[in-house]
Amino acid sequence: MQYFSTRGDGPVNLDDALRKGIADDGGLFLPQHLPSFELADFDDAKSIPEVAEILLRPFFEGSLLKEHLDAVLSETFSFPIPATPLPAAGRELALLELYHGPTAAFKDVGAAFLAACLSRLESDEDAPLTILVATSGDTGGAVAAAFDGRPGMRVVVLFPDGRVSDRQAHQLCCWSDNVVSLKVQGSFDDCQAMVKAAMADPELCAAHRFSSANSINIGRLLPQSTYYADASLRHYRRTGKKPGFIIPTGNLGNAFACIMAREMGLPIGPVILATNANRTIADYFETLEWLPRASLQTLASAMDVGDPSNMERLRKLVGEADVLREQIGVLSVSDAEIEASIRKDFREFGFATCPHTATATHTWRQLDGEMASAHDWIVVGTAHPAKFETIVEPIIGTTVPLPPELEEILARPARAITIKPDLESLASAIGDA
Ligand SMILES: *Cc1c(COP(=O)(O)O)cnc(C)c1O
Repeated sequence: MQYFSTRGDGPVNLDDALRKGIADDGGLFLPQHLPSFELADFDDAKSIPEVAEILLRPFFEGSLLKEHLDAVLSETFSFPIPATPLPAAGRELALLELYHGPTAAFKDVGAAFLAACLSRLESDEDAPLTILVATSGDTGGAVAAAFDGRPGMRVVVLFPDGRVSDRQAHQLCCWSDNVVSLKVQGSFDDCQAMVKAAMADPELCAAHRFSSANSINIGRLLPQSTYYADASLRHYRRTGKKPGFIIPTGNLGNAFACIMAREMGLPIGPVILATNANRTIADYFETLEWLPRASLQTLASAMDVGDPSNMERLRKLVGEADVLREQIGVLSVSDAEIEASIRKDFREFGFATCPHTATATHTWRQLDGEMASAHDWIVVGTAHPAKFETIVEPIIGTTVPLPPELEEILARPARAITIKPDLESLASAIGDA
C-alpha cells in the first residue's frame, strides 16, 4: 500500500508515513485507496485483534512491519474495549468504552500502536529517536505510557503549566528516564509552536533524531478504525441492523477512523460528530465555508480545537461540506448542556460520564424522533470520568471511584522540569543527545 499527502506529495510506504508523521509538503498522509470488505471476510474474527488483523493487513503491504502485524496488534489491544448496553435508555443504545487503557482515554489505542510500530522500525545502529509531543492533556500521557522504558526511544512531553488537571499532570510526569516531562510556562499553543520550531531548527535536528506523535500521524488512525469495525460487526450479527455512532470530536481523528471503517464496507449506519462550543465543523456544514479559528476553553478540554487538522483528510476522502453534510451529522454542545448531560447520565444510566463523553450522550438525547427510532445507536466514551473528577464530582454530588489503571499511575512518583516558553529553554532541557 502506498500513501500520499493530502496536498499531493508521495508516494511513501507505511513505514515512512509513520516515521514522518506529517508529509514534507505539510499535508497529512492517506492510503492511496481504501480496501473494501464483505461482512463474510470477518466471519472467523471473534476478537478485536482478529478483526484488526483482517482490516489492517492491506495497509501493511510493502511495509517492513508486515511480518510483525500480529505482535503489534497484541501489544496495542492489551485491554478490553466493550460496547456496554444501556437498557435504562429504553431504546437500543450502547456505550463504547474506549477508556480502559493505561491512561484511561481512547488515545491509548493509537499511541500503543504507534509505539509498537516505531520501535520495530528502529535498528540498533540508529541514534536514539526523540519523540516530541505537545499536549493539552490526554495525548502526552498516552504517548508517554506507550513509549515508557522502550530502549532507543525517548519522549519529550511539553504541557502548559496550570492548564491541565492535577491527575492529567501526574500522568505526564511519572515515567522512566526515557520520558522527559516539561512543564512550560505558557499555553498549549506555545508548546505546539516550540515543537514545530525544534523540528525546523537545523542545529537541533543535527543533534537529535526527531519524530512527532501528535494526532495527525496515520499510525494513530488505523488502529482506531478497528474498534468501530468490531463493535459494528458484533451489533450487526446480533440484530441485523447497522448501528449509528455518536462520537465526541475535537481534532477529528477518532471520528475520521469511524468514517474510514464505514467507507471500507463495515456495517456502520449514521455517524454524528458531537463537538463542544468550538463550532468550526458545525458552521462549515451549515455555511459551506471552512473558517478555522482560535479555540475556546470548555469543560470538554481535550476537544478544544478551533482548527481540526483531520478535516483536511475528510475533505480529501469524502468531499466538501455539501457532500459531507449528507453523510455525517454534527452538533455543537455548550458547557451548560455538558453539565446537564453529566447529571442526566448519572441519574438515568447510573454511572458517571466524562465531559467529552457527555457531549455524545447529550447529542443522542437531541436526536429527532425519526433518527432516534430508525437506528440503533452506540455513543462513544472517550475518557474515564475519574480523569476529570474536579468537573464531574461536584455535578453528580459523589466521588467517582478510580479505575485500577489510574490508581497505579497516580501512586508513582512524578517529576517535571519547568521551562520558559521558548526554543532555547527546550534545547537546553533536552541536552545534547
Ligand atoms: C482527544 C480527545 C477527544 C477528541 O478526539 P479527536 O480525535 O481529537 O476528535 C475526545 N475526548 C477525549 C477524552 C480526548 O482525549
